[in-house]
Amino acid sequence: MNTAIHAEAMGYLTQALGEGAAGITVAAIDTTGAGPRVRWDIPRLSRPRTGHAGAPDRAHVAELVSRMMALRWQGSQQPREVPAESYLQLHADYPAVFTETLETGSGWHWLLAAAAESILEGGVPEGHRTCQVKEKFGTLRWYVRGSTPQSMLETIATAEWVSGAVCEVCGAPGSIRTGGWIRTLCDAHADRKRR
Ligand SMILES: [Zn+2]
Repeated sequence: MNTAIHAEAMGYLTQALGEGAAGITVAAIDTTGAGPRVRWDIPRLSRPRTGHAGAPDRAHVAELVSRMMALRWQGSQQPREVPAESYLQLHADYPAVFTETLETGSGWHWLLAAAAESILEGGVPEGHRTCQVKEKFGTLRWYVRGSTPQSMLETIATAEWVSGAVCEVCGAPGSIRTGGWIRTLCDAHADRKRR
């Protein structure tokens, strides 16, 4: 098993879920045409978990992290860099999902691309529009209008939640940092911010 991918997967997951990640392990990392795909072992809970309030379903979080990492590591021995103009790139690559250009920085590029691919698999309804996709208080806000199926709303809510575990500058595992502007940053970018 690729130890760097394994460590990164657990980093995103535990940051996103806190205690809700308890018991979840990486069962395998499958090589696919879409990139290395983390396969999780998610034990069934015997009683409702007491993790973060309002957290989305943990299996959905784990699945989105796996999709995001496949894109981040696709065809590469190390994480791919995020495109400098992610806000334009996402609109160009997924025009049915992101009907407008975005207002996000580049760090959430693979997260947003993974969510878009998940949404496309479920089918985008006629008349779907994005109002706004932006950062607020360190995490993603993704507003849509038109008839929005439950599965799409779930994917959007999950992406918003996972953004709090992804550096908004570079896409590495990160956490929400307070003090001045509230931002989600990896250790390296948090250090740079302090200096
Ligand atoms: Zn970073």
